[in-house]
Amino acid sequence: MNSPLMIYLTLICMSTVFILFLLIYVFRKRHNYSEIARYFLLYTAAIGIYCFGAGMALTADTLGQMKFWTVIQYIGMPFSAPLGLLFIMRYLGINVTRTGFWSLMIVPFITLLMVITNDWHGLHYRVFEADPVMGMPFIYQEIGTWYAVHGLYIFSCMFVAFVLLLSKWKETARAYRPQLAALLFGQLLPMLTSFLYLIGVTPSGLDPVPMVLWLSSLLYFWAISSSTLFAIMPVAKDIIFNHIKDGVIVLDKSHRLIEFNRAAKNNFPLLDKPMYGMEFQEIWLRLTGNRFPVELESMDLQEVQAVMGESERIYQISASTMKHGESSQGLLLIFTDVTELKKLQKQLEHQAFYDELTQVYNRRAFLRQCEKDFADAKKKSIPFSVILMDIDHFKAINDTYGHDIGDEVLVHIARICRNKLQQGQIFARYGGEEFVLALKGTTVEQAEQVGNELRSYLQLHPLVTGERVIPATVSMGVSQSTTGSLQQLLKEADLALYEAKQNGRDRVAVYKQIVESIK
Ligand code: GH3
Ligand code: MG
Ligand code: MG
Repeated sequence: MNSPLMIYLTLICMSTVFILFLLIYVFRKRHNYSEIARYFLLYTAAIGIYCFGAGMALTADTLGQMKFWTVIQYIGMPFSAPLGLLFIMRYLGINVTRTGFWSLMIVPFITLLMVITNDWHGLHYRVFEADPVMGMPFIYQEIGTWYAVHGLYIFSCMFVAFVLLLSKWKETARAYRPQLAALLFGQLLPMLTSFLYLIGVTPSGLDPVPMVLWLSSLLYFWAISSSTLFAIMPVAKDIIFNHIKDGVIVLDKSHRLIEFNRAAKNNFPLLDKPMYGMEFQEIWLRLTGNRFPVELESMDLQEVQAVMGESERIYQISASTMKHGESSQGLLLIFTDVTELKKLQKQLEHQAFYDELTQVYNRRAFLRQCEKDFADAKKKSIPFSVILMDIDHFKAINDTYGHDIGDEVLVHIARICRNKLQQGQIFARYGGEEFVLALKGTTVEQAEQVGNELRSYLQLHPLVTGERVIPATVSMGVSQSTTGSLQQLLKEADLALYEAKQNGRDRVAVYKQIVESIK
């Protein structure tokens, strides 16, 4: 065997061994790569058969042997290009139907048939004989009609696969681009070699494609095994990554930025590609002007406030450790913008506990807070008093000035009372034109004094709207307790209030005194 032939044979053997290795490697790991693996295995098997046939053809001494090994090559070669295309399509997340699959296999099957039966029709090789100058295993061939169809078909398949990969370059995240580049070169190499062979640039009489397939296999192997984060992750997943509305930030083991999606960029406009490799704390500082308030590793689901210029947003952040096998490869931070939700929640909370007209506590909020304060006072044995107040002749105010002015009087009185509130006091609208004041740590005598001060203040400060002065007075009932229930206490205050109304209004009545006067 002459020395160039030895080189060819070595290269082809190398390709075959690499392909075989790749086949076994992917077969063992096929469960990690799901459906892509099936097409990839078929593709690799096809080029494996092709290379094996090509290698064996170089050892052929007779034309009969050469024809036999050519048929073997054609069991793999015509199928490899469409199978490669199918693999790329799956990798990019393009669905392939059963009909689509078999349609792509029609031309290769015909080609195989044509090669097997070539001696009868010469449609694939018009001439196929030992090279008259160099002899076996070099072949002198003239191509037939079907050869052109077949050549065009495999070239188109490889070209479409290449263009598909290239079209995804821009939207592929930086982390997966080396994989994409490896696949692109893996496709480009046989395509370019077969093109050079077709135009007659390569040494004649030998198909050079099997000699370069080892390099393609090496690139594929690298693409599959190198990526520790997502293995051979389809670009489809990458598209999803960029289209989900939550911001996603990917960090490596030492919390350095690897990747972020479009939503993260929208949430944090200052987030930019030059920040790749930067520590997350440093990034957060640049984005918001503050340190990230939570320890990343221990973070489950946290709410974090981010101030960016004028806008203040609240994010719910979940951090998940990304594992490859047993070891942690990094951290995935998912930012859900809950600002609007929080606003709504606050609004609903406000509506549930505040009176819409006067913006003071409503009865429900009062009772809830008062129960706590009263229980605490009882526990500490300190006095606890309540003042129930009711606007005098409010119906007459409504009738005289109109309901709107009536409303304004309610707001006016509520505002004065609220402004006069002291620590430990709870003030609320109890209903209609009634208000209530709870005073923790205050005796009934002190409460009576508070009530009287408030009453005379209100008397001296009527509502003034435009030209009109609308005088309004209030009557109050006061009660104190260190035992019993809040209900009982309020009932006593109500009785005292009734007494104040009975005695002429615009006054404060104390329950204890009423009881004593009855005795
Ligand atoms: P008294 O001195 O005995 O308390 O007499 P009053 O007229 O204040 O008492 P009454 O219970 O007869 O009338 C209360 C009125 O308060 C009746 C109701 O229409 C009015 N009112 C209740 N809620 C509101 C409100 O939100 N706005 C206005 N404008 N009026 C209200
Ligand atoms: Mg009333
Ligand atoms: Mg009233």
